[in-house]
Amino acid sequence: MRKSGDELNIAVVGGGISGLSAAYFLLKKGHNVCLFERDPTLGGLAASFEFGGSFIEKYYHFICLGDQDLIDLCEEVGLGPKLSWRSTKMSFLYDGKLYPFGTPLDLLFFRPVSLLGRIRFGFNIIYARSLTYWQALENESARAWLTRHIGKQAYEVIWEPLLKIKFGEYADEVAASWMWHRIHRVAKSRKGFLAREMLGYLVGGSKMLFDTLADRVRGLGGEIRMSSPVTSVVLKDGAVTGVRCNNEDIDFDCVVSTVALPLLCRMLPKECADYRAQLARVKFIGVVCMILKLSRTLTDSFWVNINDPRISFNGIIEYTNLNPRPDLNGSKIAYIPFYLMTTNKRYAYKDDDLLQEYAAALRLVSADFSPAWIQDWHVFRDPYAQAICTANFSQIVPSQKAPVKGLYLIDSTQLYPSDRTISGMIGLAKKLAGVVQEE
Ligand SMILES: Cc1cc2nc3c(=O)[nH]c(=O)nc-3n(C[C@H](O)[C@H](O)[C@H](O)COP(=O)(O)OP(=O)(O)OC[C@H]3O[C@@H](n4cnc5c(N)ncnc54)[C@H](O)[C@@H]3O)c2cc1C
Repeated sequence: MRKSGDELNIAVVGGGISGLSAAYFLLKKGHNVCLFERDPTLGGLAASFEFGGSFIEKYYHFICLGDQDLIDLCEEVGLGPKLSWRSTKMSFLYDGKLYPFGTPLDLLFFRPVSLLGRIRFGFNIIYARSLTYWQALENESARAWLTRHIGKQAYEVIWEPLLKIKFGEYADEVAASWMWHRIHRVAKSRKGFLAREMLGYLVGGSKMLFDTLADRVRGLGGEIRMSSPVTSVVLKDGAVTGVRCNNEDIDFDCVVSTVALPLLCRMLPKECADYRAQLARVKFIGVVCMILKLSRTLTDSFWVNINDPRISFNGIIEYTNLNPRPDLNGSKIAYIPFYLMTTNKRYAYKDDDLLQEYAAALRLVSADFSPAWIQDWHVFRDPYAQAICTANFSQIVPSQKAPVKGLYLIDSTQLYPSDRTISGMIGLAKKLAGVVQEE
């Protein structure tokens, strides 16, 4: 398999954004690449599905102004003109009342929090926007840090539901450094202090990026094998010799894993027990996300944060308030995510039961809402939606070069303290191509 010269034969495991962009950057460096994807579609967590004749992402995705690696890659592969930006509205449902929540001015009038709490909240955003030395926040929880800065009431009303959207029952354990970066990233997506957030999307959705990247990979001589789950990484004398897929051992000089860490652990042979134990220290939370196709909008906001004891979920993302999707002929798309451990009984709730529960709750979000608005719906689940970034997380983040010769990995934890993003994963893939090249 090995060509003359310095090129390597590389197996990339996973056809999400990390795998596809790693394949692309490695091919550009002159290596031979074969990408293995378990599913019949590319895209992983950002994959789309056919929803009544249109391709829609299974999970909501937006782009921030600072997502430079994604913006650069779009330009490079000719998708620059397909990037679209919009100023978006955010609102907050508190105890049955919907408050605008997108600008500092909205915050000033957000009555559920005392005036002092609102002022302290605003100052914390300004502080987080300018702070760059996040290491000082690493060994403290977001809860402790925020409560100290903005007070208990503002934390419990505003930030706690937001942390719950992402980390469910683990919200209290998230490190302040992760929270700081989240505030920092979104604050940087405003063009001015008083402006709303500018969020972006790809006209045609992330699917267009995946299709374009797949074409580029094939055009550069790479191979993409769909419906091809890698069951193990094959080792000889402690070094990688290939992968096992569909009961066949296939030789490679090295392997780049882009799958979630618990899935990589399952692929590693017994002799990697120490490494597996190291990777298993990172815990993940799953997601159950309902996508609704509606005949009318629920609100005029892209993002509605929810803090209401009568509603089980903490947010609604009305995607068509960002990307109007003219191909949907006037229908609207809303996502209701719920992050939780897969051991939580809610993870296995029947889809129909969830629909009933959510439809009842939507009446509290929009008084006009009627279940007759629901034209179609679907529920998606993923067991490894988000790593739980607990205190001192940097100490357990795995490096791109594994302690096994010939094994490399790309994982969202390597973005810490940044949140996992498509742009961040593209940046990691570019970096990895450099790491492999240096070896
Ligand atoms: C609900 C939700 C909302 C999000 N919103 C945003 C957002 O607004 N903006 C943003 O930038 N990011 C967002 N993200 C994050 C973004 O989706 C991820 O960071 C990104 O898609 C991760 O890509 P990846 O390639 O690293 O991993 P994945 O997408 O998980 O890809 C891994 C791939 O590996 C495949 N695979 C698994 N096992 C095997 C095997 N044994 N053999 C071969 N293939 C295998 C899987 O099928 C999958 O295709 C969101 C994520 C979620 C869950």
